[in-house]
Amino acid sequence: MIQTQRISLNDPAAIGLLVACLARGGLAAIPTETVYGLAADATNGEAVAGIFEAKGRPRFNPLISHGSDLAMAERYALFDPLARRLAETFWPGPLTLVLPARLGAGLHPLVLGGLQTVALRIPQGPMREAVAALGRPVAAPSANRSGRVSPTTATHVLHTLDGRIDLVADGGPTMHGLESTIVRPEGNRVVLLRPGSVTADDLAAASGVPVVRRGEGDAIDAPGQMLSHYAPHGRVRLDAVAPEPGEHWIAFGPEPAAGLEAAAGLFQLSETGDLREAASRLFAALAAFDSPDIERIAVAPIPREGLGEAINDRLRRAAADR
Ligand code: AMP
Ligand code: MG
Repeated sequence: MIQTQRISLNDPAAIGLLVACLARGGLAAIPTETVYGLAADATNGEAVAGIFEAKGRPRFNPLISHGSDLAMAERYALFDPLARRLAETFWPGPLTLVLPARLGAGLHPLVLGGLQTVALRIPQGPMREAVAALGRPVAAPSANRSGRVSPTTATHVLHTLDGRIDLVADGGPTMHGLESTIVRPEGNRVVLLRPGSVTADDLAAASGVPVVRRGEGDAIDAPGQMLSHYAPHGRVRLDAVAPEPGEHWIAFGPEPAAGLEAAAGLFQLSETGDLREAASRLFAALAAFDSPDIERIAVAPIPREGLGEAINDRLRRAAADR
């Protein structure tokens, strides 16, 4: 349990407190025009892992990143003319664009859920002010425990997250109470991935191109649905006590008593057995060992509690038969 501080956005010091919290890797619930978002610095892997921990999310699904303006958004994603037109029409506002990510621009891989696309929006109000003052994007899903209703007041946030987050900024009830509309601009059409307060008619009028609903079997908006979606080239052996000769070893906690000298490679998720650190390094570990030359990967056991549930979910997908 941590002490959750409740501040009022009428307090002139509020934005400064939010920025200080986010800059040191903390978690802050902040109202947007849709619902209260649970924000963390999107470039800080341990802070982002903290979102999954606080929400109790059972898997690492990708998170929406919130920017302060189009210039910031363009540092992290590629905009074609259609995407730019939508951004210029609806931002700041309740529209999220799924765009090709500029990989290596600084967003942590956990934010993208290991995908090559990024979901971006520019919100209105205090969330935007905080992001502008921070100078980098924040990842922010709804500020509620996994499986519970999205909160539209600070008191709702505290119902499920009190003692699990650092700060809640009370700005009164949110305007829409409905999540942002999510779309993927595709050059000559707009694919509607999630309906929200910006409607298909609004999108068609602004873009001048057809708006189509997400198709059946569309993989990209259902990341993690397919069991082997995230698998590296090699075979992955889970809950290994020690590496066998020639295996690449993904370690968690202290080194095994024997076997390490015969391992072909080593990636330590967290020497101290810290689940947040391990979560923040997991995608890097799988990427490091995803090569046609690496045939066998073994992974140390990782506890199932807390963030361990999502880590093990991700590892099971990496290990699934394909
Ligand atoms: P939320 O839980 O409100 O933050 O919404 C997250 C949803 O946004 C996900 O379920 C996806 O549908 C979509 N999304 C977020 N990030 C990405 C991404 N990197 N690529 C594609 N879709 C994404
Ligand atoms: Mg939610």
